Amino acid sequence: MLIVHNTLHRQHAGRHEMFRGRLVPCHESPDRLDHLLAELHKRPVGTITEPGPLDEALLARIHSPRYLQFLAGAWDEWVALDPANAELDALPSVWPVRGFRADVLPANFAARMGLFSFDAGTPLTAGSWTAARQGAACAVAAAQAVASGSTRSAFALTRPPGHHAGADFFGGYCFLNNAALAAQALRDGGFERVAVLDVDYHHGNGTQSIFYARGDVLTVSLHGDPSTEYPFYLGYADERGEGEGAGCNLNLPLPRGTGFADWRAALGRGLDEVKRFGAQALVVPLGVDTFEGDPISAFTLRSADYFDIGRDLASAGLPTVFTFEGGYAVAEVGINAVNVLEGFGS
Ligand SMILES: [Zn+2]
Repeated sequence: MLIVHNTLHRQHAGRHEMFRGRLVPCHESPDRLDHLLAELHKRPVGTITEPGPLDEALLARIHSPRYLQFLAGAWDEWVALDPANAELDALPSVWPVRGFRADVLPANFAARMGLFSFDAGTPLTAGSWTAARQGAACAVAAAQAVASGSTRSAFALTRPPGHHAGADFFGGYCFLNNAALAAQALRDGGFERVAVLDVDYHHGNGTQSIFYARGDVLTVSLHGDPSTEYPFYLGYADERGEGEGAGCNLNLPLPRGTGFADWRAALGRGLDEVKRFGAQALVVPLGVDTFEGDPISAFTLRSADYFDIGRDLASAGLPTVFTFEGGYAVAEVGINAVNVLEGFGS
């Protein structure tokens, strides 16, 4: 397995997020990758490499120009409002809900930040844009290596994560949708039908929305029931895609407290759908926040279960790209993620 690592991820280090009514230290932190790298050092499952420059044209096919332009300049605008802002993270506080205009681009920075986001849990910092771009470059490089046939599987070892980011919004700790970029790179690399099978605890709302009307990319997500779990407003079983994408989205919501037997049965349903779709390549947004000790999630998977997840995913027999997503029981993040990779094999 090829492992493409984001060496500049550390530049995205938020101080606080809004969580259950309070500003708390960010759950999504640089030390998550430190634990993963330490575990990979103990149990090497592949070769670690750095990506080349990000493919700008590919980025612009997944994300809208006005969103990319906003992200590129957001930190400078934030500091220009008040030099003291350099010591603070930028967080949105106002959003255009139903009945407001989303087509106009306000001059006001806070208004634009709300337009391009959906929560107050995703701080934008001085290095967020650099780190997000570097992470996206890892995902694209991983997919291009798989598409070229130089490796059968690859892991984009990156943060910030990506699966909550839509074509023109950030949120859920995500800015650029690494899994969507990987899927597009696989399509561009010659695979005509690509499946995304999201195993993070949270619904992959960004990936779903990006591909919702497309028939060439299947999106499947198994996740905490959005009726009670973040991101709440998407991820229900009746969302099946639209237009050319009708029938090309499958959500498998599961109740809080779900254990591995039931979770694994849902994974089996997801894999059946991937097969039925006739996917030629697979992207797995790999979150390990399904772990029993995760501080913001409520499934009860144990570390040993992650080997079986890897084996089950390998049973699809497809060229596969993993992107690293959630997992906030920081000490166990490395063990659980590497268990998946080891179970998967090469
Ligand atoms: Zn998650």
